[in-house]
Amino acid sequence: MDTYKSKQLTKNETKLVPALTRPARIAGVEIPEWWDCQWQRIPCNKKACFLCSKQEVEEAWDVIADARAVLEEVSVGALPVSQKRTAIGECAECHAPLKDSNHPMSRSVGKWADELFEVFMAGVVEDAWWLDTEAAAEVEWYAPVLLDKVGQQLETNAWLSSDPRNQVAEADHGYTRYVFAECLLKLERSLRELALYDSGQKAEFALAIARLTRLKQRILKL
Ligand SMILES: [Zn+2]
Repeated sequence: MDTYKSKQLTKNETKLVPALTRPARIAGVEIPEWWDCQWQRIPCNKKACFLCSKQEVEEAWDVIADARAVLEEVSVGALPVSQKRTAIGECAECHAPLKDSNHPMSRSVGKWADELFEVFMAGVVEDAWWLDTEAAAEVEWYAPVLLDKVGQQLETNAWLSSDPRNQVAEADHGYTRYVFAECLLKLERSLRELALYDSGQKAEFALAIARLTRLKQRILKL
């Protein structure tokens, strides 16, 4: 693992996407800190956290679903079923949320994630040492999150276009943009680290970075 240690990125090399300040409030809607624990690879695990304090994951999702119902009742009113998505993001009943998989952005990011998956599979076949790195764990986690959030944002955009003044939709939209920036930062940083290693997948990682760079600005504008 000496190679791993000797090839840590310098501080400048990691500055790829400027990290955003986490929004505390968007469109008058407070963004609770536990929202972060829905998508971050390492949740806060604080006892005070609404999500992490729950012993059973399923139980937590039920609570989210309940909270979401209350939030919608209070803030949104009776929305059509297709629009019953939430600022809270994923929940038990929309664990596999509707995705516009035919949208060009979904297709592009999906293709990128599929290709990356193939690179990881090639690593598995070779029993590659880099699979055990923190960088690999980050990419494995945040690539699907990015794809999922793109689908979610497309839904939110449709929701906003039908109801432009909806504050919950606006908050959801703003928060997802923050999630995009965070995911892109983590993915770029980790992919660059993986591309530095002398491995059979070195060139593929470099290619994955180049493709993500091309997608980045489009994702951030969603
Ligand atoms: Zn938490």
